[in-house]
Amino acid sequence: MLEKFERYPLTFGPTHIEKLDRLSKHLGGKVEIYAKREDCNSGLAFGGNKLRKLEYIIPDAIASDADTLVSIGGVQSNHTRMVAAVAARIGMKCLLVQESWVPHEDAVYDRVGNILLSRIMGAEVHLVDEGFDIGIRRSWEKALYEVKARGGRPYAIPAGASVHPYGGLGYVGFAEELRAQEKQLGFAFDFIVVCTVTGSTHAGMIVGFANDGRHRNVIGIDASATPSQTKAQVLDIAQNTAELVDLGMELVEDDVVLLEEYAYPCYGIPSPETKDAIRLCARLEGMIIDPVYEGKSMQGMIDLIQKGFFAKGSRVLFTHLGGAPAINGYGYTFRNG
Ligand code: PLP
Repeated sequence: MLEKFERYPLTFGPTHIEKLDRLSKHLGGKVEIYAKREDCNSGLAFGGNKLRKLEYIIPDAIASDADTLVSIGGVQSNHTRMVAAVAARIGMKCLLVQESWVPHEDAVYDRVGNILLSRIMGAEVHLVDEGFDIGIRRSWEKALYEVKARGGRPYAIPAGASVHPYGGLGYVGFAEELRAQEKQLGFAFDFIVVCTVTGSTHAGMIVGFANDGRHRNVIGIDASATPSQTKAQVLDIAQNTAELVDLGMELVEDDVVLLEEYAYPCYGIPSPETKDAIRLCARLEGMIIDPVYEGKSMQGMIDLIQKGFFAKGSRVLFTHLGGAPAINGYGYTFRNG
């Protein structure tokens, strides 16, 4: 489906799939849990899901003759870290707007983890006092204007690389890659669990898996705590991406399966259950997930398994989308382990 689109390689290749035996057994052994390790997908600044998306966006940035990538996220945004890494790799400048999306306890929150890495990679970081919102922000438009006023040539990448015409393509590619891996494994996964916030990861998967009728088995776990906005954005991106790749099928609201009950208390803050999920994964599998995203999708998947949501014998694929560097901003939360 993606042959006609130019791709700038930023990742190592197909990501590893591993079976989480000890976690499966701990949760009763009725379903088999696997993880697709998108968190280990590249040598660029610890990798993560944004690189798959950026592979289809960067050719457009280069063609536009831009000299500065301009993007936006929270203070501990993984996305802005990835944009900083890509700017370094392709020899562009980078301006990042980092908004105060998360109320935080750690004194070093704005100096460690993702933002530390972005600074080291040479990005210009603007801290802005604005709350969480996945939509198009004024602060970002202002930054684009600022680059132009200085004589620069900005290229705009929205939050999460989502609301961009090519934002959904990377995860269409994920579905194609998984199908090829399933052929080798000799079985197909029954469910794919994904953490959803700005929406293009989930949206790309919906389009990619619609091809084999599995798109409603993509179980999105909302971590935005603004699920109506997130769901609408997923549908919108999925519909645009479907048109772009000539899917030949109309996607409707019911195609977006988004579970809303795990994002509490708010975006960026882990609940006690999220922290339990993070500890469980770390202690049984040595797999590190973060308090903002996969901590919540893991919490959701565990709860769904315990409730019997997945039929006995199901193979469930947890997508680990990256994000571990943010955990450095949560030292206080985990001060007792
Ligand atoms: N997991 C991690 C580690 C992320 O950085 C993000 C980004 O927002 C997500 C999940 C959610 O992906 P999306 O924004 O495409 O919904």
